[in-house]
Formats: sequence, C-alpha cells, structure tokens
Amino acid sequence: MLKKLVAGNWKLNGSLAANEALLSALAAVPGVDVAVCVPFPYLAQVGEGLRGIELGAQNVSEYGAGAYTGEVSAAMLVEFACRYVIVGHSERRALFAENDAAIGRKAAAAIKAGLVPIVCVGETLAEREAGQAMEVVGRQLAAVLDVVGAAKMGQMVLAYEPVWAIGAGRSANAAQVGEVHSGIRAWLRAQGVAADDVRILYGGSVKPDNAVELFAVADVDGGLIGGASLVADDFMTICRAAVVK
Ligand code: PEP
Repeated sequence: MLKKLVAGNWKLNGSLAANEALLSALAAVPGVDVAVCVPFPYLAQVGEGLRGIELGAQNVSEYGAGAYTGEVSAAMLVEFACRYVIVGHSERRALFAENDAAIGRKAAAAIKAGLVPIVCVGETLAEREAGQAMEVVGRQLAAVLDVVGAAKMGQMVLAYEPVWAIGAGRSANAAQVGEVHSGIRAWLRAQGVAADDVRILYGGSVKPDNAVELFAVADVDGGLIGGASLVADDFMTICRAAVVK
C-alpha cells in the first residue's frame, strides 16, 4: 500500500497574518505525506514557516520563460522549494478555460522541472447523471498521457475530484469514489503505466467526519482538501485519518 498524501488547496485565500496563524498550528504527521498548495505570493512565507510539511503551488505555466505576462514557470516554483503543483483543477478548467491539452502540457512542464504535478480529473454532475463519469475521466487522463508519456505518468499524483462535490459540503460516497479510483488504476494499467506506483487522491468536501471512511476505500491514496485545509484543527484531523494502520 502506498503512503498516503494529504494536500491542502488554499485556493484564493490567505493574508500574511492569517497564514502566520494557520502555519503555527500545522505540524507533520508521522506516516503521512502532507503538503499545502498556496497562492504564489505566499510561497516564500509559507515555505519558511512549514515544519515537516511540503510546499506546493496551485498552477504553473506550460512555458519555461519569455513573453508570457502573468505566468509563473515550473523552474520558479522549484526556486521557492515547491515539491508539488496542482494542475487542471476544475476551477481552472471551468473559470479560466484550461483545456485537456494545455493541462497535459502543464503537467509535462512541471515534471521536466522536477516538480510533482497533482493532476485533477473529474466529471460534472450532468456527466455523472448521464453515466459518463469514467469516460470523462479517461478522456482527461488520455490528454495528459499523450503529452507526458506512459513512462513518466508515475512521476505525478492524480486527484479524482468530482466537480459536483467540490465545495459542496457533501462528498461523493465511498462506492462512487471506489468505482472511479479502481477505474483510474485499471485505465492506467491498460496504458502500460506502472499503475501501482501512482498515488490517486480523492478531493471534494473531505471533512474530519468523512475522512476515515473515504481514506479506507481501496485505491484511495490520500486527499486533496480545499475548504477544510484553511481550518488547522480540521486539516490536522484529516491528515491523521490518512495514517495507514
Ligand atoms: C478542492 O478545491 O480541490 C476541493 C476539494 O475543495 P473542497 O475540499 O472545499 O471541496
């Protein structure tokens, strides 16, 4: 069984003062890899304040350098000691028109620079109701595989995040999560990827009261945590729920 990873996604939240307070209450949890993915301007502050927790960003440019105003390269994130970067979060897909191919190129850029991309995939409610959840996830994964190649898929983390569960206060249930996670593992294996080495996180309204159940589902190798990662006690409780017993 893979060691679990719990990654917090702070989204567009924080201030120097609020981050300071949150950081003082975060601590490493033995037996679990923990990371926080923070807004770019706070990378230096958070990087200095973390103890035994790794740093991540929430987006990265597909480009390395040049006339791309507003972009942040993977090499810049490495300079700030980032280990992870979230790529293809559904909010970026829906609100910032990031498409499957661009997400593949971002994942490849991250890997090339030595970062671990946390590549998010997941269906909308309409797609789930149409019975297309795994088809959509497969299409999103195929676009990444096309750019990255099977040999390097093991250098990323995947996050299954059903769009309808993000920020909704209600997570997917254990059966729904298990079906897609085992489907992703089988899909990877069928493409010739060393699927057992790829961590597949679940994200979507993970809270202290459902984390134990969700993390016990087969093929769930941790979580990507949005809202609850801003509340230190909740985040720490979720991290402890990921300790493999
Ligand atoms: C997320 O933003 O990746 C997420 C899972 O959010 P939440 O935990 O708030 O649903």
